Amino acid sequence: MIVSIPKNSDFSIHNIPFGIFSTKDRSPRAGVAIGEHILDLAALAELDVFNFNTAVLEQKHLNDFISLGKNITSKVRTDIQAWLQDDNSILAGNPELFVKQSEAQMHMPIHVGDYTDFYSSIEHATNVGKMFRNPENALLPNWKHIPVGYHGRASSIIVSGQAIHRPNGQTLPKDSTTPVFGPSQRLDFELEMGFVVGKDTKMGETISTNEAENYIFGLVLFNDWSARDIQKWEYVPLGPFLAKNFASSISPWIVTLEALEPFRMPGPKQEPMVLPYLAYSGEKNYDINLEVGITPENGEETTVCHSNFKHMYWNMVQQLAHHTVNGCNVHVGDMMASGTISGKDENSYGSMLELAWMGTKPLKLKDGTERKFINDGDTVTMRGYGEKGGIRVGFGEVSTKVLPAK
Ligand code: CA
Repeated sequence: MIVSIPKNSDFSIHNIPFGIFSTKDRSPRAGVAIGEHILDLAALAELDVFNFNTAVLEQKHLNDFISLGKNITSKVRTDIQAWLQDDNSILAGNPELFVKQSEAQMHMPIHVGDYTDFYSSIEHATNVGKMFRNPENALLPNWKHIPVGYHGRASSIIVSGQAIHRPNGQTLPKDSTTPVFGPSQRLDFELEMGFVVGKDTKMGETISTNEAENYIFGLVLFNDWSARDIQKWEYVPLGPFLAKNFASSISPWIVTLEALEPFRMPGPKQEPMVLPYLAYSGEKNYDINLEVGITPENGEETTVCHSNFKHMYWNMVQQLAHHTVNGCNVHVGDMMASGTISGKDENSYGSMLELAWMGTKPLKLKDGTERKFINDGDTVTMRGYGEKGGIRVGFGEVSTKVLPAK
């Protein structure tokens, strides 16, 4: 192996995820993570190893690289895997091709043109339904027929490491009919995964569930920040707005769909049967362990949630088929988030709303303090990885600190 890869690294030889990084003397450019290093793809291109227009590797987003198509991007990945394992390859004797991740700054890997957020975990939708509507009949009548979603805001999607301010907004105090303005008192995370669209469609075209994987480049961890008190007052009748669009954070490395192959598994049985355009064949869920930690200012991290992407009721190919069934066009770099990923157990719920059950069951952190929602100074960190038969492929983390309201 050309570089040493620590055991249990998310960025094993099986992964080879793509991102955009810079260092003191390297402008933002494409790279792949390997162990604790980054392979500089722009520098590698100067050695004339690629037979495509390598200007796409010197740009500050991966959109044009992804647009080359999977025939090319997949070959880049498998070539790099082969070169890394060949001590006589082009990578040998060229230490300038590698930089330490600790010395690099990560950037948004893609320009996100459009962002859609689904609501595809049955456990999450059921928990929210129990809290806000009817405990006996928590799911709305459409939920098992439609991968429910809404159009989010692309402009405020940020990369891990960038802090956010607690949002201000309108809320309705308890037992009042007059709203007040001020910082949200119920700031929450949502544990999600997002997939990045890898191929354009034209308006009027549809994507079938059979074709959908050709349109998915890869996945990231996705923290869909939410202000529950603002949401409660504003969402009737048109749905999420300012409670959701102030920030969503993503992990910087896009893990390709190919790298996740070993972790495929069947999804939950869908009953009642879905309409024909949502039917699919094959295994479309993925066994990806997920966790969320809260670190208070100058404090120690407490893990508050263990969940898994395998729990999703609606899978990505169904989401994409549904999204385009009316002819809505999608573009390379569009972000499609899963919705909060909750499991069955109380410690697998993917938001503070559920974990602390609307504030009725506060969580205790290691420092003895309690949380119903997220405090100023807290850093929320999400991690995810698949592991099977000695193969580990991980996402690294998405970590975001919450600063006081402006
Ligand atoms: Ca969400």
